[in-house]
Amino acid sequence: MAAHDSVEQKYVYDFAEGNKDLKDLLGGKGANLAEMTNLGLPVPPGFTITTEACKAYLTTGREPDGLAAQIEAHLESLEREMGRRLGDPDDPLLVSVRSGAKFSMPGMMETVLNVGLNDRSVIGLSNQAGGNDRFAWDSYRRLIQMFGKTVCEVPGEEFEHALDEIKSAKGTHNDLDLDADDLRGLVDAYKKIFAKHTGREFPQEPREQLDLAIRAVFDSWNAERAILYRRQERIPADLGTAVNVVAMVFGNLGPDSGTGVAFTRDPGSGAQGIYGDYLANAQGEDVVAGIRNTVPLQELEQLDKTSYDELLGIMARLEEHYKDLCDIEFTIERGKLWMLQTRVGKRTAAAAFVIAGQLVDEGLIDLDEALHRVNGAQLAQLMFPRFQLDHEFEAVAKGIGASPGAASGKVVFTSARAVELAAEGESVILVRRETNPDDLNGMIAAKGILTSRGGKTSHAAVVARGMGKTCVSGADELDVNVPAKKFTVGGRVVNEGDIVSIDGTTGKVYLGEVPVMPSEVVQYFEGELDPETTDDALVRSVHRIMTHADAARRLRVRTNADTGADAARARRFGAEGIGLCRTEHMFLGDRRELVERLILASGEREREDALAALLPLQRADFVEIFREMDGLPVTVRLIDPPLHEFLPPLEQLAVNVAVAQERGEDVAKEEALLAAVRRMHEENPMLGLRGVRLGLVIPGLFAMQVRAIAEAAVAVVRDGGTACPEIMVPLVGAVQELETVRAEAERIIAEVVGDSGVEVLIGTMIEVPRAALTAGQIAEAAEFFSFGTNDLTQMGWGFSRDDVEGAFFWRYLELGIFGISPFESIDTDGVGRLIRIAAEEGRAARPGLKLGVCGEHGGDPDSVHFFHEVGLDYVSCSPFRVPVARLEAGRAAITTAGSDSR
Ligand code: PEP
Ligand code: MG
Repeated sequence: MAAHDSVEQKYVYDFAEGNKDLKDLLGGKGANLAEMTNLGLPVPPGFTITTEACKAYLTTGREPDGLAAQIEAHLESLEREMGRRLGDPDDPLLVSVRSGAKFSMPGMMETVLNVGLNDRSVIGLSNQAGGNDRFAWDSYRRLIQMFGKTVCEVPGEEFEHALDEIKSAKGTHNDLDLDADDLRGLVDAYKKIFAKHTGREFPQEPREQLDLAIRAVFDSWNAERAILYRRQERIPADLGTAVNVVAMVFGNLGPDSGTGVAFTRDPGSGAQGIYGDYLANAQGEDVVAGIRNTVPLQELEQLDKTSYDELLGIMARLEEHYKDLCDIEFTIERGKLWMLQTRVGKRTAAAAFVIAGQLVDEGLIDLDEALHRVNGAQLAQLMFPRFQLDHEFEAVAKGIGASPGAASGKVVFTSARAVELAAEGESVILVRRETNPDDLNGMIAAKGILTSRGGKTSHAAVVARGMGKTCVSGADELDVNVPAKKFTVGGRVVNEGDIVSIDGTTGKVYLGEVPVMPSEVVQYFEGELDPETTDDALVRSVHRIMTHADAARRLRVRTNADTGADAARARRFGAEGIGLCRTEHMFLGDRRELVERLILASGEREREDALAALLPLQRADFVEIFREMDGLPVTVRLIDPPLHEFLPPLEQLAVNVAVAQERGEDVAKEEALLAAVRRMHEENPMLGLRGVRLGLVIPGLFAMQVRAIAEAAVAVVRDGGTACPEIMVPLVGAVQELETVRAEAERIIAEVVGDSGVEVLIGTMIEVPRAALTAGQIAEAAEFFSFGTNDLTQMGWGFSRDDVEGAFFWRYLELGIFGISPFESIDTDGVGRLIRIAAEEGRAARPGLKLGVCGEHGGDPDSVHFFHEVGLDYVSCSPFRVPVARLEAGRAAITTAGSDSR
């Protein structure tokens, strides 16, 4: 409502006027204080100034019209309710001024306690406290300190310093040893510090204190640390904070007073019970500052049984009311319990699943709600082995957490050595500057992969994630010297055989062995733990929620797999087919020689011979995969990368040839190879001769693959199995490309399949922006589309997927240009728009067109919701992300508009 409207906007709400659903307006703290007030719980009276007032202040630089008068009116009614007046020299009302945004931003914003104290009311406070001078002067010095620091930007250390001086003069380290006179002296010292830094006296007028404190809370929304925190947590910058003005209650009035925090269940494990800490004769900030040691909350039972019992009753009531784990802050003032805060408490991933299951058992929530309360990121966390970091290990480097998990082992620098040592039963960590397809065997053999270059979509990262193998990439503090079999980091040398530990979640690298624990959730998915009989509450709950997600979801979940073993594991993890079988690894290893023959072929005959030799090998690959996926669809993608990737690197080859020539050796073959590598060298291989372009340029290559797929399917069917192959053409940008490939493929399929009953679909990847924009035409020649969001992101943004994340994304993230790499989570505005257009125009041209996604985004929780929303039929992701995608697809299906899972 605009300020000139005749009805004045309401900026201030009494606690009794709000409720827990008004978080947008009253912030989390204010809304929950209101809720507790309305439940009849003992909340100190107060009022909340809305986020709208904050937003108006932040845009105009002044308090909105009407705010001052509304605060005045609410203050008066608070004074009436408390029977005390702010600033009254004989019997003062004191208030706290606390920030409280919609989303909790712990420690980011400001609080000022004891507002209303001045040189006169400090005496009144002492009288109220039964002549407790010490308490009154301590409260006053706290006000000057907090007010000075947060409202007037006086450096906090100066106050700390003055306090330390008084303590050391007294020969003590303990605040409690200071008496009233000491504290009166401290107040004088603090006032001087205040005056020195602000050029004015500490304000004695309570209403001025209040107004300035409110303004400081508004301003703290735009403090640098708050801005950074919001960016990190992806909290919108325009929400503003509410301000709560609450009558003070004191936990520092003596041994019958105190303060504490508590959880209604264990936020670490989810176990039922009471978890909390209590500190007698203290205020909340003492607990946070760790000045004295707290005791377990259970000990309050001995100290003050009445308050303890009341607290337990309130906690049970809050849980039943919020239907969730609550965390609370409370104060006891001379035996009287006060609730200062509650909110739905943060918890670990394991606790989130366990508690959701418990609450269903307790009848507090249904399974839809349980599903809503957990998420894929939590499940992913639970699926990786983790380090037992119970004592200090010092990280020596930090790279990108490219594939989560924890792994320790002996350092090796080559794939061959990794295979060798693994065969001897050793755990190894393969360390490379970066990996390439030739490292595959070593990557399979290794427990983890560590590279000094590359981002989250580098070869190492993508392949490791596919295998569910721990990987840290781009640890650029490492200087890797493969020929010398060593790396250096921070002046230390690590040789082959030395032990390192890597954490693929945090990206941290440790020297030496950090103990690792396996994941019980993976044991469950692997079928090694029976959810019906296990006493593991986490596994039981995961099973139950996954079962519900599967029943709820519309999206199918397939996997990206190109070996029988991956396919089998993905099936155990719940995959309903293969959405991307990349065929390039099938051209490596001992088949490399055949590929070289193919590339170097001087005539049609030689090329055909090489292809004929590759055909049975490819057929065997596909037979294995079709058998594993018996009856489920398998999308096989025709070869994508440029062929020169299968040849040795140019520099190395040139050196070898030169050396051999020098020695007078016969190098005719190597020279031919070198000439081919030079001929095929590209400045921008990602935009060069790859995918469908390769198929159109090298006669017989795609034809051989199509034949191998069709023959494999027929062989499986003749053996009594079922095969549902789908042939996918990569990198199509124009329908004409697809039509050409399709015409040849259809001819071969018809010839091979005959009357076997095998049906082969032909479709395309949509991974070139032009394909998305001409999807209506392309759909005429495609029975399905699968969005290759890795390339679509690369070409949509013009970001080289192998380089940019390590090179400069940190700066983009810092500037907030995006909150997360678009290679990790789909850029819904740009790349997502291409997907939307292609889905709509493709389906308009061919109703029933099957739509999927097979880029890395297929297993990203947020992206899965987007794919659900644009109406894809399936997502396909690496085997380890299949459960995550199943869970998120279920959540996407039950998420109602406007609900908030943060
Ligand atoms: C893609 O581009 O998203 C894709 C799945 O293909 P690749 O990662 O193999 O290029
Ligand atoms: Mg691609």
